[in-house]
Amino acid sequence: MTILVLNAGSSSLKYKLYRFTPMAEQLAAGVIEQIPEGAYHAAILEVEKALESAGIASLAVLDAIGHRVVHGGERFTESVRINQTVTEAIRALIPLAPLHNPANLEGIEVTRAHAPSVPQVAVFDTAFHQTLPSYAYRYALPEETYTRMGVRRYGFHGTSHRFVAKEAAAGLGKHPSDVNLITLHLGNGASVCAVREGRSVDTSMGFTPLEGLVMGSRSGDVDPAILFYLSREYGYTLDALDSMLNKESGLLGLCGENDMRLIHEKIAAGDPRAMLAHEIFCYRIVKYIGAYAAVLGRVDAVVFTGGIGENDAITRHAVTKQLSLDTRYLVIPTNEELEIAVQTMQCLV
Ligand code: ADP
Repeated sequence: MTILVLNAGSSSLKYKLYRFTPMAEQLAAGVIEQIPEGAYHAAILEVEKALESAGIASLAVLDAIGHRVVHGGERFTESVRINQTVTEAIRALIPLAPLHNPANLEGIEVTRAHAPSVPQVAVFDTAFHQTLPSYAYRYALPEETYTRMGVRRYGFHGTSHRFVAKEAAAGLGKHPSDVNLITLHLGNGASVCAVREGRSVDTSMGFTPLEGLVMGSRSGDVDPAILFYLSREYGYTLDALDSMLNKESGLLGLCGENDMRLIHEKIAAGDPRAMLAHEIFCYRIVKYIGAYAAVLGRVDAVVFTGGIGENDAITRHAVTKQLSLDTRYLVIPTNEELEIAVQTMQCLV
């Protein structure tokens, strides 16, 4: 069975091609960067060309295509086969993910035009977290903000948390439904997930991916009243606040650098801002692990993944040395595309 995985962003298209025999074998992978608006058609042709060298003559001969879709709202608790109703539902969720869902949709529609008879599946970043109990996903805001306006914690990075949770269970020699884990996805975006018996029961990203841990350029948790203060006293507009919290904060805002490797270089050179940025980054992780350990009661393992989680032993050590949990610490490389391919295959049977 040959499955293509597509991750359509606002200006780039990532793809990976897998063959399941039934073991998964990756046959091709690549990224098409800087796609001008409306030019997904040309990008898909480029993917098709790249697949030729892997023996795939056209998209039409694939067994299925799996798409990453960022926001599935409350509607999608699992991956689904795409049809007209599903596309409309993804469109209806655009207000919740105005940057991502339109690009994901375009990827789906252009692919469908190219290969109308190939089954397509949507795999949602939010779906794994749909098992959160209401006391974990509700904010203490007036009820209608939830019932009428959809304001709640959705969580993101779900495909990655699900993948490493399954891998961790396998590594511990247990069934996924038998393990309690704290999974840390630490990349440019960063989130932590409390997994009880294989299911997500809490996660640090919320209504949007802005909440929670300190990230490359996102603030993570802040007191929302800071925004009123900056607006009232310093004239910040809504757009300026949005940009500040998402693009100018986090590690970048604290020390002028968002690449953890360069932050380590600065620390080695004695830069106090870089040292503090790293301390804040690690301290926030420690606080969340403590909170989720309390939520879970028993923690079989804390799992590190993502660019920083997988590669940065200094950060892992800075976190684990502050903890006194009776648990294992595991490093598991994530593979969101492989998980999307597996989910796609499972949707076909
Ligand atoms: P994204 O969230 O964009 O997918 P990644 O998961 O690739 O990002 O993570 C990017 C982060 O991982 C960057 O901060 C980068 O500096 C960090 N990183 C990658 N390799 C290393 C390494 N060897 N040591 C420390 N940090 C690393």
